[in-house]
This record gives sequence, structure tokens and C-alpha cells, in this order.
Amino acid sequence: MRIASIIDISLVDVPKIPVTVIFTAGCNFDCSYCQNAELIPLLSGESMTIPDIVDRARGHLVDGYCVTGGEPTIHKDLPEMLKALKEDCDCHINLNTQGSVPSVLERSLPYIDSVWFDMKASPTRYVKTVRTSHDPWPRIQQSLELLLDSDVLFWPRTTYVGNLTTPDDIKAILETLHELGFRGEYLVQNYIDSAGTRDEEVAAFERPNRDEIEPLFSSLPSGISMRLEWR
Ligand code: SF4
Repeated sequence: MRIASIIDISLVDVPKIPVTVIFTAGCNFDCSYCQNAELIPLLSGESMTIPDIVDRARGHLVDGYCVTGGEPTIHKDLPEMLKALKEDCDCHINLNTQGSVPSVLERSLPYIDSVWFDMKASPTRYVKTVRTSHDPWPRIQQSLELLLDSDVLFWPRTTYVGNLTTPDDIKAILETLHELGFRGEYLVQNYIDSAGTRDEEVAAFERPNRDEIEPLFSSLPSGISMRLEWR
């Protein structure tokens, strides 16, 4: 598996659980606002064996792991890596995914406790947002259904990008989640510039104004709450 980096301790990636963060390299999407754009190329990072990853990641004062990217599920051996981590620590395993490879996600489910699921856009605007040649939505819907049918804690979230995301996107995502049976909290966080973005890609984007989506609070689908995290 190709690994970009491993951060010994993070207090912010999983609520209330200090974790070691493992960044896999490579992504099958090309979001213009990507904040880890150097991780998109499939040959970025370095190739590591699963025992090497576990050896490198273990031994910190944490209660779990967060596996993120790039997109971890493009790696066919992700389930084996998660299994090795789980067997080594018997601790909380969190996965960050955009859900485009349901076959790998399904094989990973026995070894993960929680998932941050990045919903990039409303179903009809995925191709424009993630810039793929084929519409990934059917596979993303399949991943959502897998998670909703599992015991894994499922935390959907969207990055709201000024001049790209619209309140209608958020409304459509909320309705889609509701139709699929999700009940719980949906997180919307604001886009911010970071060292990992590509200047030429993000020139037109801006920090969004939370006032744009405040009106949605008055018509949330039943059973779903929305939390805005403006940083
Ligand atoms: S899915 Fe994530 S890692 Fe991949 S391009 Fe989009 S923001 Fe970047």
C-alpha cells in the first residue's frame, strides 16, 4: 500500500479519541478544492508493507487510529491493513472515505468502528465537483447503504466551498440521507485555504458565509440534525 505520512498523535480527527493518523496516498477523484492535492497522484507517497505500517504507527499515547488520504479504499489491501491494526491494538479504528469503492469498504467493515463519510455534492452534481469521467454516485449510494446497514458509527459530512457548493446541494444531501434511512447528525464544515491546495484551482473559491445555509435549519428532515463547523 502507498502511504503518504503517519502523524503520531491527533486530538481533532476523531471526537474525544486521540488517534494516530495514517495518510494513504492516491485518490480517484480530483476535487478542485482538495486540501491534500499532493496526495492525489496514484504513485505519490511510498510503498510500505502492512507489517511496516503497523510497526511505524504503533507505540503512541493514543486510543485508536484514523486512516485517511487521499482515498484509502482505492487500495485493495486496505481491509488487511485495518485488520492488522485492529489485531495489534484492539482500539478504535476510524476510516475517512468518499465512498467510491464499495467493494473495498464492504470488506473493511469488520475492522472499523467509525467512518467519516465525505459527501462531495448533491447526487446530480458529483461529476462536476469531483471531476471524474464517469458518474460515481451509484457506487457512493451503494457505500452509504452498506454503512447504514452496518453497526459502524456513520458520520456524514460535507465541506462547503464558497462559489462552488450551494444551499441547494446541502438540502439535496440532507434529503438523500433521509431517503436512505440515515438518522443522526450531519456535519457541514467551511472550506478554508491551506498549504495543501493548488493556487490555480482555488483562486475562484472563498470562505463561505454560514448565513447562506442557516435557513435550512428550519426545514431539516425528521431525525436529522445539522452541525455547522466554521473554522
Ligand atoms: S476525494 Fe479527498 S483526497 Fe480525493 S481529490 Fe477530493 S478532497 Fe482530495
